[in-house]
Amino acid sequence: MDRSAPQITSFHPPRRVLMGPGPSDVPARVLQAMALPTVGHLDPAFSGMMEELKTLLRWAFQTKNELTFPVSAPGSVGMETCFVNLVEPGDTVIVCVNGVFGGRQAENVRRCGGTPVIVEDEWGAPVDPDKVRKAFQAHPQARILAFVHAETSTGALSDAATLAQIAREHDALTIMDCVTSLGGVPVLLDEWGIDAAYSGSQKCLSSTPGLSPVSFGERAVAKLKARKHPVQSWFQDLNLVLGYWSGAGKRTYHHTAPVNPLYGLHESLVMLAEEGLEASWARHRAMHEMLRDSLATMGIEFVVRPDARLPQLNAVRIPAGVDDAAVRAALLSDYGLEIGAGLGALAGKVWRIGVMGYGARVENIRLCTAALRDVLG
Ligand code: PLP
Repeated sequence: MDRSAPQITSFHPPRRVLMGPGPSDVPARVLQAMALPTVGHLDPAFSGMMEELKTLLRWAFQTKNELTFPVSAPGSVGMETCFVNLVEPGDTVIVCVNGVFGGRQAENVRRCGGTPVIVEDEWGAPVDPDKVRKAFQAHPQARILAFVHAETSTGALSDAATLAQIAREHDALTIMDCVTSLGGVPVLLDEWGIDAAYSGSQKCLSSTPGLSPVSFGERAVAKLKARKHPVQSWFQDLNLVLGYWSGAGKRTYHHTAPVNPLYGLHESLVMLAEEGLEASWARHRAMHEMLRDSLATMGIEFVVRPDARLPQLNAVRIPAGVDDAAVRAALLSDYGLEIGAGLGALAGKVWRIGVMGYGARVENIRLCTAALRDVLG
């Protein structure tokens, strides 16, 4: 093997304005927090920060759930953490699929040895509660309902309160994906009666990618404790992870936590707390409306009906005759602006314009609409 070192120097990323489906723009304050000195992950000072992080996350999720913490991995692992801990071989799980991420939930159920009952809705439509009611009637043995609150692949927002209510009526737990919703629209775990939820650091929280806040309520913990089979993933087994995320003083080694990214998440949540949840939701809505009005003057149409539109993820139809990839490439090279391509069934048909977290600002909306107007001619 050649021992001469590769001639590679430091990486200098270009400056971008991130208006795709995530990651979103990360504010300097969060990046600066991540550049602070690394301490040991069992250092008492770090433990104090972890306790604050749990408090901030409980507030962001609007829950009193003791078991609330960030999984040391991206949103997909938060998703798996919910499924591997709550689904046992033989379980029937009703899974709502109205886009890419509902499909991934169904795949998680299969890989846990469960049987997914798919409730399908058109891509771009919210989950239809009546179909969920019918699925429970047809499959009374189902004990879990899983759905995606904010489908990032389509921009549709589903009615989480109603879905959780239906699950309760059938004595089932709910697993909710709120990767894209947390911080951008109301996410009210306790008020809605959600049993398990997972999110991501890189969307409306505007931290860097790679952390997944999760929260589990008492009913979910009871199901976990009553399992007949051990959780098949060692890393994600909550019984073990908890030894690390339990209160300061009781903390024992499980894995080496991503120390500096956790500083960043802490700072992003401090910024959210300074602004206030309701103010953040209102800002996302106002910026969405500004974008919507500008796009309307260009004749660009939305995929999702108005009452189910996510303010933070605007899926719009690519105008006829327009070269999707060429437009996105021109936005990136001429304006340093990233918007998202369509995903799955909507690939090549839509653009996904993210108005998330720190990116939900007037200057970003102005840049995006001016750049699109210019590039589209
Ligand atoms: N769920 C939804 C709704 C998402 O939008 C995403 C990422 O875009 C994920 C799950 C997976 O998160 P990650 O890419 O951080 O693994």
